[in-house]
Amino acid sequence: MCSVPELPEVEIAARRLARALTGARVESALAPGMVTLKTFDPPLDALAGTTVRGVRRRGKLFVVELGELALVVHLMSAGRLQVWDKRASLRDRASRLLVRLDDGRELRLREFGTQQRAWAKLIASGAVEADEVVATLGPEAWPAPALDALASLLDQPRHLHPLLRDQRTIAGIGRSWVDEILWSARLSPFKKGSELTDDELLRLREAMHGRLDAALDHYEQVIGDKLPDKLPMPLEVHRRSGEPCPRCGTRIEAIHFKDYVLCYCPEEQTGGRVLKDRRLSRLLK
Ligand SMILES: [Zn+2]
Repeated sequence: MCSVPELPEVEIAARRLARALTGARVESALAPGMVTLKTFDPPLDALAGTTVRGVRRRGKLFVVELGELALVVHLMSAGRLQVWDKRASLRDRASRLLVRLDDGRELRLREFGTQQRAWAKLIASGAVEADEVVATLGPEAWPAPALDALASLLDQPRHLHPLLRDQRTIAGIGRSWVDEILWSARLSPFKKGSELTDDELLRLREAMHGRLDAALDHYEQVIGDKLPDKLPMPLEVHRRSGEPCPRCGTRIEAIHFKDYVLCYCPEEQTGGRVLKDRRLSRLLK
């Protein structure tokens, strides 16, 4: 099971890419992934001769600024955006989008597996905020919104687990970090956003900001100039079912959904109750 890179993973990658690429000039660009590039105007050829102005993040998206243009990239679950010293072999089946620099290096969007789900859009720099995906994003989860702003964002009768992963509500959190944030805040994944007390909201905000901030600090320490294929995520409960809770020692439990797994500490998050695992109960029938 691959996981989509979330806010800290995309942020550290954007910082490293910015450091490596800012000021570099583009020689040419091509898209071996037939369906990766979702836009056709301006054409990819318009990148030739542009200079990289920077690389930033919005939610889980990369925004590579090149001259007057911006390349917006979503890695989905199996994509990688990395700088290579040499050009890719055209036979490399993982290549989806190649931006060749005139110093011989290459910004390469690759994707593992046969599915082509990672996507990119080439649009005018000034049009990024109005892009149909970007425009729907809520405020960034890190730095966390002010308490009253967060309160009104989360004032919805929906369970916290899906609510915090809903990019339209708040941007950057996915299936890994949501487990960590709720565990740090000692909140049930099934608590409703609209039912949070002031104290719970305070804990949630602190956990959200604190965990994402600590993850970024961790990545700053361990990630060098070359971005690894897999980042060493500092997770404590996600995908750790069966292990003792690092805080209280209770066995971490999991609920398996069709394409993800939710992990929590029953003692500290659900009032001691072990919630029904749909997969398990199906197996036991
Ligand atoms: Zn615990």
